[in-house]
Formats: sequence, structure tokens, C-alpha cells
Amino acid sequence: MENKNVKETVRKIFTEYLESNGHRKTPERFAILDTIYSINGHFDIDMLYGLMANQENFRVSRATLYNTIILLMDAKLVIKHLFGNSSQYEKSFNIETHHHLICTQCGKVKEVQNEELKDAIANTRLNRFQMSHYSLYIYGICSRCLWAKRRKKTNK
Ligand SMILES: [Zn+2]
Ligand SMILES: [Zn+2]
Repeated sequence: MENKNVKETVRKIFTEYLESNGHRKTPERFAILDTIYSINGHFDIDMLYGLMANQENFRVSRATLYNTIILLMDAKLVIKHLFGNSSQYEKSFNIETHHHLICTQCGKVKEVQNEELKDAIANTRLNRFQMSHYSLYIYGICSRCLWAKRRKKTNK
């Protein structure tokens, strides 16, 4: 799906969600949705706050951001990740399934696509359970940290 169509579709989904749950359809909420769907990959509240602050038309408080993100998660348009001890978010509509490699040293998160893993999970039979989606986190040490570690060792 083209990015423009994705944005239109998620706006529709969010409109319906807000209407049927009795929430107000404020322009701020839609601006936040739009900004989130312009981000590639993960983001945290600080990053989103920075992006929103750069837009001239809106002054969005952190409280509004948190509040809107909770609504977006409830509307299944955003998912929350806990990488180590940092909370990060990601858009979830029309997103290709991917896996996360998390470095336990520097906390860097890398997204990977692995067809074999995807197939294996898709073909796994789950008893009395219908899977909708999943997140896979693989923990370890990234090449940069590994390299730095080796260097330290040889310098001693
Ligand atoms: Zn690292
Ligand atoms: Zn991700």
C-alpha cells in the first residue's frame, strides 16, 4: 500500500475508533497520528515530542502525546515495545512482520526480516489459539560492541 493511502486509511480507522468510543476528534490527535505514520521504524516519546514541536500549527504537550498514544494502541494502530528498559513505539498498520535484534550492551535495536523464521512461526500450530500478530526480540551483542570489547581485551 502506498504511504499516502496508508495515512488515509489509518485516519479513517482512528475516526471510527474515536467516534464509537466517545472520544473527541481533535486536530492534535490526527496530527500525532500523521506524524507517527511518517516515521520509519521505532520512536520514543521524546523523539515524537521533538517532531511535533517542529510543526508550526500545533503545540502538543507531553500529556496529550501520552494520552493519544494510549488511544492509538487501543485502536491497534500503534504497538509498544519494551526494549531492555526503554519504551519504544511503532506504527502497526500495514507493517511487514519483522524481528528485533537488541544489543544488551548499548541498547541499539535493529530490525531484521527473516523468511525462515517468519514461515516457521506462521506454520506453528497453536492449540485453541488464533494468532493475530507477534513480536520477536532476540537479545545479544551488536557487532560494534563486540568489536569494542575485543579491542579492550587485546589492549590489556
Ligand atoms: Zn551494542
Ligand atoms: Zn520494529
